[in-house]
Amino acid sequence: FPVERIRNFSIIAHVDHGKSTLADRLLEITGTIPKGDNNQVLDRLPVERERGITVKAQTASLIYKYKDQEYLLNLIDTPGHVDFHYEVSRSLAACHGVILLVDANQGVQAQTVANFYLAFEAELTIIPVINKIDLKNAQPDVVADQIHNLFDIDKKDILKISAKQGIGIEEVLAAVIERIPCPKHDRKKPLKAFVFDSWYDRYKGVVAHLAIYDGFMKTGDRITCASNGKTYELIEVGVMYPTQVPSGFLYAGQVGYAMMNMRNTNEAKIGDTFYHENIPVEALPGFKDATPMVFAGMFPSEQSEFPQMRSAIEKLTLNDRSVQIKIDNSPALGQGYRLGFLGLLHMDVFNQRLQQEFDASVIVTAPNVAFKVKIIGEKNIKHYGSNEITVLNPCLMPIPEIITEYREPMVDATVITPASYMASITQLCLDHRGRIKDQSYIDDTRVLIQVKFPLAEILVDFFDELKSLSSGYASFDYQDAGYEISDLVKLDFTLNGREVEELTMICHVSRARETARRVCEKLKNTIPRQQFVITVQGKVNQKVIAREDIKAYRKDVTAKCYGGDITRKMKLLKNQAEGKKKLRLIGNVEIPKDAFIKILKR
Ligand code: GDP
Ligand code: MG
Repeated sequence: FPVERIRNFSIIAHVDHGKSTLADRLLEITGTIPKGDNNQVLDRLPVERERGITVKAQTASLIYKYKDQEYLLNLIDTPGHVDFHYEVSRSLAACHGVILLVDANQGVQAQTVANFYLAFEAELTIIPVINKIDLKNAQPDVVADQIHNLFDIDKKDILKISAKQGIGIEEVLAAVIERIPCPKHDRKKPLKAFVFDSWYDRYKGVVAHLAIYDGFMKTGDRITCASNGKTYELIEVGVMYPTQVPSGFLYAGQVGYAMMNMRNTNEAKIGDTFYHENIPVEALPGFKDATPMVFAGMFPSEQSEFPQMRSAIEKLTLNDRSVQIKIDNSPALGQGYRLGFLGLLHMDVFNQRLQQEFDASVIVTAPNVAFKVKIIGEKNIKHYGSNEITVLNPCLMPIPEIITEYREPMVDATVITPASYMASITQLCLDHRGRIKDQSYIDDTRVLIQVKFPLAEILVDFFDELKSLSSGYASFDYQDAGYEISDLVKLDFTLNGREVEELTMICHVSRARETARRVCEKLKNTIPRQQFVITVQGKVNQKVIAREDIKAYRKDVTAKCYGGDITRKMKLLKNQAEGKKKLRLIGNVEIPKDAFIKILKR
């Protein structure tokens, strides 16, 4: 295919607006997959099939005949959820245009807005498409108004389709060919290949997704990685059609995959440039590192499984560059990791992928955000290495006496809701320490609200509350908005006066009492009674702000044995000793490991 007959594009949309379904239709109509019961064929991961969401961007090459010419269309399916913006912006680097899909019933949603701006800022051609026009309650004209009002898009440029019923799919392909520019690449120049995705395949080793900018490459070529100078032999080169089909070569303008004799999972860095051995070219600018927003501990359920978990985490992070990893230790859970994620769903999905794709069973602790503090005192500054520190683990927060300023991460959020829910949603935002920045109508019945929130406030249950308040109609999206000065306190928990390090948390002063009460109650309900009273306390600066007592209980396990049977008695005592191995002792209070896990988990 000459470059003029290649189009690289992507489909972007709010979650559930039909990206994967449209991708199915495009694959069918171009004969890439047979017609029939195709359901989101590009969602290949088990976690994607189970949850019905796309997590990884996927690519597929299509061949389509238009006005007697064959075109090569490289489609990149992208995830829509806020946590995966990183994936979206990455795929966009390999594209020249996007299909912006909007549900004809739901209309423009929070992530539609966010995705539009990602494409707009990347200066890509945007093809607006209203999907699901077959629905009984479809309002394509209202939605067209929204698109026009919000994005200043001419209404006559908007296509109206049903991905499910296959209506208007040819028009979509025609628009892709007519409106999206072809790649501006030169095949005569030396090879310049850009890695926009890579992952570890259990059987094939490291697989890289490449966009060829200049030149061409073929199986057997020796290529060098610009960032580490290492040279590899191309073992297999091909296109995604829609699964890996070896083609032997890839030309400028094409998108495909490559396997090389790469042993170490850390070698194929996303954002790297490859060139032919001894013919170096200037590397393309790599990707900005993603900024993790949410941190949590991850530990193996059995300490002996740590090496297994480590190798699983290493392989998975090759495929997901946005995860930050650090070794961590916990007195109760042993050696593990402290991981940084882009959001909660991201964290859940990572956890699920660990289990499903690598058979690793892990314990995940409650998530927290990263706080920043300024400290005084020459000795302290020397000890911490700076007068400004970022605290990822609440236990490592310096003492309040030396802190002059606390700061917490903020987000700029967008909520789109039917106007009838506006009052209760405004209240919900205020309850979560949100500051309303702006409100505007996007059509007669829907409102777009812009709110600034502390990230910590929307981490756990904000989204669920928003959904239930609005009967599922409100949508929500947010992006990083830097740090702001805040009034924070460190919350400690003690059992009979001994501190439980793992439970230490940092929260806003207005939240301290309520949080302390909740955790004390949880402790009371999960720690089994013992032969003495256990006092559970929540404290701020040594001052008790919440308390619960766990009553004493005399546990005489041998009582049931009626004296006589000595072997049974021995067996019971043995069982009890086995159980003790799984305990964490705090002072003289014994906490079974599983109770600990219950408390630490969300
Ligand atoms: P994605 O999250 O954007 O990838 O959305 P999916 O392609 O997974 O679609 C979400 C849901 O909408 C699925 O249940 C689809 O069957 C349904 N859907 C997609 N397109 C249409 C359409 O044109 N009409 C109707 N009625 N349903 C559709
Ligand atoms: Mg999808």
